[in-house]
Amino acid sequence: MSIPVTLIPGDGIGPSITDATLRLLAAAGADIEWDLQLAGTAAVQAVNDPIPDATIDSIRRTKVALKGPLETPVGKGFRSINVALRKAFDLYANVRPAKSVLPGLRFDGVDIVLVRENTEGLYIGVENYIKIGDDAHAAAQSIAVVTRFGAQRIHRYAFEYAIAHGRRRVTLVHKANILKYSQGLFLEVGRKIAREYKGRIEVEERIVDACAMELVMRPERYDVIVTTNLFGDILSDLTSGLVGGLGLTPGANIGNEAAIFEAVHGTAPDIAGKGIANPTAVMLAAVQMLDHLGQGERARQIKTAVEGVLRDKKTVTGDLGGSATTEQYTDAVIARL
Ligand code: NAD
Repeated sequence: MSIPVTLIPGDGIGPSITDATLRLLAAAGADIEWDLQLAGTAAVQAVNDPIPDATIDSIRRTKVALKGPLETPVGKGFRSINVALRKAFDLYANVRPAKSVLPGLRFDGVDIVLVRENTEGLYIGVENYIKIGDDAHAAAQSIAVVTRFGAQRIHRYAFEYAIAHGRRRVTLVHKANILKYSQGLFLEVGRKIAREYKGRIEVEERIVDACAMELVMRPERYDVIVTTNLFGDILSDLTSGLVGGLGLTPGANIGNEAAIFEAVHGTAPDIAGKGIANPTAVMLAAVQMLDHLGQGERARQIKTAVEGVLRDKKTVTGDLGGSATTEQYTDAVIARL
């Protein structure tokens, strides 16, 4: 029986890289019934709403979505749809793996899974300006909220993920030395949860700045990282860079009621419409999705084909130093299946 999945092609390079991924999934024999929906700028243009009810209803029904990147206007216009979707479905865990596959990079042997708290911290959207005299923007404040509930479930998710995936160590990344309350609570809860896994999973702690330095000095020593929203956002781009760039890293947004799979990268407006975008990140997001849907074997087949083409490095896109188009690269992966 085919599995219903919501498809949001997204903006910029989104439609071309999700198309490529659908072609790959079909070639691999994945029996999926796609429910095409809009969000972001494409939805504003079509129905004047960045996040139409039909899209929300579809995800509520299918419980799983594959999503292309969505454009968010900087500093004005509608708020991030990605953040809104994470809130709407309480997608509290953002899982971003980064693995060395491509040859000839500065680093080898990187295999990091970053688990980012996805619903709290500085991303809750509580911000305001403070007017002083006639300067309406004399000051600005953004509030970070960490709750015991939120910190508990993300740490538990990270440790359970580590066990389920045969990982050996979890690093708790924080800034509790300066942000003693919000980051302090996150760390306090993390330490408590970690004790429950004693003897099964190794635990260590890193202050985020030291972690950033060590990630570019000795990335191969990291295994699973768990951290708050903003640090996770920044460090996951960093870990993408260690393995060949944003074109390669997928992300799963997981909640109890639904899950949305996407690339870590954005809409790449500089290369949109040129047919040269790298679809790997969305392809690997689809691999995470198949795993989530209990189709582990098919997921492995697709991942092996993608990694094979990357390892050969003969038919890769421009961001990886090659000259293949999105279509040529996709053909090469399909041929490898
Ligand atoms: P970006 O990730 O779109 O692009 C950064 C750089 O990486 C660009 O040079 C781009 O060409 C390159 N790049 C990204 N993906 C690539 C791919 N698949 N193949 C080849 N090259 C690729 O980041 P940005 O320019 O800061 O953001 C553009 C827009 O995307 C913004 O509106 C931002 O809000 C949005 N965005 C959305 C998401 C999401 O939907 N999850 C994530 C990040 C950014």
